[in-house]
Amino acid sequence: MTTANLPVTQLTGIGFQTANRLEKLGIRTIQDLLFHLPHRYEDRTRIQAIGSLAAGMTALICGKIEFAEILPRGRKSLVCRLSDTTGFIFLRFFHFNANQLQTLKADTWLTVFAEVRYGFAGLEMVHPDYTVVAGSDFALTENHLTPVYPLTEGLSQRVLRKAIQQALVWCEQNTSVLMDWIPQTILQQYGYPSLAEAIQTLHAPDETISITALENGDIPALKRLAFEELLVHHLSLRQQKHTAQAWQAPMFIGSAHEMTHFLQSLPFQLTNAQQRVIREIENDCKSHRPMLRLVQGDVGSGKTVVAAYAALLAISEGYQVALMAPTELLAEQHYRNFCAWFTGFNIHIALLTGQIKGKARENILYDLAEGSVSLIMGTHALFQERVQFDKLGLIIIDEQHRFGVHQRMALREKTRQPNMRPHQLVMTATPIPRTLAMLQYSDLDISIIDELPPGRKPVVTSVIPADRRDDVIARITHWVAQKRQAYWVCTLIEESETLECQAAEQTAERLMLSLPTVRVGLVHGRMKASEKEKVMQDFKQHHLDLLVATTVIEVGVDVPNAGLMIIENPERLGLSQLHQLRGRVGRGSGDSYCVLMYQAPLSDTARQRLGILRDSNDGFLIAEKDLQLRGPGDVMGTRQTGQMQFKIADLSRDTELLDSIQHVGELFFTDYPQTITPLCNRWLTARHIYAEV
Ligand code: ADP
Ligand code: MG
Repeated sequence: MTTANLPVTQLTGIGFQTANRLEKLGIRTIQDLLFHLPHRYEDRTRIQAIGSLAAGMTALICGKIEFAEILPRGRKSLVCRLSDTTGFIFLRFFHFNANQLQTLKADTWLTVFAEVRYGFAGLEMVHPDYTVVAGSDFALTENHLTPVYPLTEGLSQRVLRKAIQQALVWCEQNTSVLMDWIPQTILQQYGYPSLAEAIQTLHAPDETISITALENGDIPALKRLAFEELLVHHLSLRQQKHTAQAWQAPMFIGSAHEMTHFLQSLPFQLTNAQQRVIREIENDCKSHRPMLRLVQGDVGSGKTVVAAYAALLAISEGYQVALMAPTELLAEQHYRNFCAWFTGFNIHIALLTGQIKGKARENILYDLAEGSVSLIMGTHALFQERVQFDKLGLIIIDEQHRFGVHQRMALREKTRQPNMRPHQLVMTATPIPRTLAMLQYSDLDISIIDELPPGRKPVVTSVIPADRRDDVIARITHWVAQKRQAYWVCTLIEESETLECQAAEQTAERLMLSLPTVRVGLVHGRMKASEKEKVMQDFKQHHLDLLVATTVIEVGVDVPNAGLMIIENPERLGLSQLHQLRGRVGRGSGDSYCVLMYQAPLSDTARQRLGILRDSNDGFLIAEKDLQLRGPGDVMGTRQTGQMQFKIADLSRDTELLDSIQHVGELFFTDYPQTITPLCNRWLTARHIYAEV
């Protein structure tokens, strides 16, 4: 155990109980304590003249009590009038004890710190921090700005400050505790202080440092820590990739004849972008190192067929392929697509979702373990323990942002060949800006499908308030009369699936009443797979005109004749998610429309965001703009940021740091490889480190 890893109980005054409370803040070791940063600061370095105070200021003052009295008016309170040579102010206590009554009386001198506000009789401070002093010459000032830490129940600022003070002294004496793993030259280049200096500054800043700058994280000390944390995130992912590539993977050369036959049997020609990405995948699979590739491509750019090509490469070499999708609807649709594309190829394809039970499930599991199923599609059900493969050679994950890193890894473990790892192909329609991709996906190589199949017309999007609902309903009647189909999407309510489904049910009922000639269907996440399947099939075969749905249709659903989508309360969703939803229309050759029907009033940002969507059909551009408006945390959505939680760095505040991370990361691998592990170890606790990829 190094000194930094010593438990907090090594410090004097930290007993079992305090240690327990600290643990609630995630603080176990002395190092944890040092990295527990203040969330704000107070300036107690200067005494302010009472005459200069104004409401809203937080100030340290020194004065003499002129008189003290208990006011019975309203809530009983103890009020003291405190004055210096420049003016007076009232101190008000709603709770006070006998002791305080003894101390807080006329002629006592106090140093007082609190926020100033308007009271009944002028300016006052309520429950201020105070210390009795001998006179104005004895006013107590601090040498540094006072840190205010995030606390937890039962833990006081005083105790925490004392503990951190001790920890700071401790690391002055044991310089190895805050050993700097970022080389001097890099620090100099970016103007960053050493680690020890940065920590010291943040816990006990000089009075010359602006509190605003501190609280906005706009000082080199904080930037340095944020930079280090982001760098570690990047390095550890890169490290995982490194480790992953040390494994063996099966080589897939593929039979040229078969691959050509596949491409020729498709009802369309691949776009240039699709062809390019296929080459990239082929190159990866020709190597005996596992492929770790992310395919990014806007909705409708045709990622599925690229995945099918990759699958065929593996299958033609006698390996099994697993394709995992985030929803049953999507898994089922992939299943149907692949079955159609692979007719005549004699490939045994199976579908495994949570809904497939009993004997049918047993049979699939048996065939899979025994090797007669070559291609399995499914949802999360695929990484359950009982699912075993015979020769798993390729894992394809669709809409990767819906899955965690862990799930991806669990599936990878399912190959039976020792020392072998399957190739991995990950697909996402959520375009994230390059800088963020570098941070989030640095364990993957990235391919981009930046071209839509020919003939697609952009979706015409309009933004209208919900009180024009009647117009929208009239429009549906007109649309359906032209033999076209439409979606009506009810968005997430407070993250509650149940409520969302109820809302969709009610909407469907109301629409049936107001549109008696229109055949209305309903699909939501709470329905049985077989019910959903039936509704989707009915819609696809045009037995239904209008499909009311929750956001379950966000991914994958493909009905070219459905060219109108109404999205209710679009302001509740992220832009990328809206863009994905909208991607359901515009799949055919006819005109297509999306109506964003918002609930007024809209905030300025919301208005701007919906405007972006109205004006653009380019997923990458939308993601960039969304990033500017909302910051990276929101853009990536909570599902994604689950794997990116930072202690100090704040992606919206520290965006500018991202540019240098990749460059510096590279330097570490070439010039300072031996410092990567200790640097990462400082930041990553056991639960963050995945044993290996
Ligand atoms: P996504 O990238 O959103 O997953 P899909 O793979 O579902 O997109 O493809 C959308 C639609 O485009 C599907 O109907 C698919 O068959 C079709 N498609 C894919 N590639 C092409 C192409 N090169 N030309 C024409 N249509 C294509
Ligand atoms: Mg897709």
